[in-house]
Amino acid sequence: MEQKIIFATGNQGKMREIRAILSDLGLPVLSMKEAGVSLDITEDGTSFAENARIKARAVWEHTGGIVLADDSGLAVDYIGGEPGVYSARYMGEDTSYEIKNRNIIDRLFGAEGKERSARFVCNIAAVLPDGRVIQTEAYMEGVIAKEPAGTGGFGYDPILYLPEFGKTSAELTMEEKNRISHRGKALEAMKSALKQEIAVTGGRMA
Ligand code: IMP
Repeated sequence: MEQKIIFATGNQGKMREIRAILSDLGLPVLSMKEAGVSLDITEDGTSFAENARIKARAVWEHTGGIVLADDSGLAVDYIGGEPGVYSARYMGEDTSYEIKNRNIIDRLFGAEGKERSARFVCNIAAVLPDGRVIQTEAYMEGVIAKEPAGTGGFGYDPILYLPEFGKTSAELTMEEKNRISHRGKALEAMKSALKQEIAVTGGRMA
């Protein structure tokens, strides 16, 4: 059977980014749907790492092979790491990011300088054909802006100000963001880890 990688997501934007980064591994990268898996996975972990593992393992139980999953979000130090693993569900799944972003800015009223530190976090888990799990995690560090800015990206991008770029994450081009983002860096690290696995098993991982 031909070796392939399944990425446990239904998000087409993510799949495009993931395929582009992993293309030089030389293995086909399939979404859950393309792999014929339809699962409602409960992400009840208390960390990004745990949630990524839960998702990858749930799909792997159905497919075997190599299964990858990611979990990401925004962690704001001043409010104890919130919204953290609840980033998508913060204030309700259907609440607009205009409202979520405004709420976070309001909760940081009075916080100045380094007190406003925050980061995007991305953890990626890979379950290998023999059931072993490898994980990578990366960050995009910044501070919470006092006003949202920019129209690029999605979610919390308009409020994460990146001092070294002098702009928010939503003011970066997609290429700029992919080069420095939590997800881009975690995926690059995962690619290196998978390359090593493929090398030690001579490309036969199933
Ligand atoms: P998930 O990992 O796709 O479940 O994403 C979790 C949530 O974290 C998203 O719905 C966003 O709220 C937030 N998030 C993750 N990555 C980013 C990003 O690059 N920009 C803005 N928000 C993000």
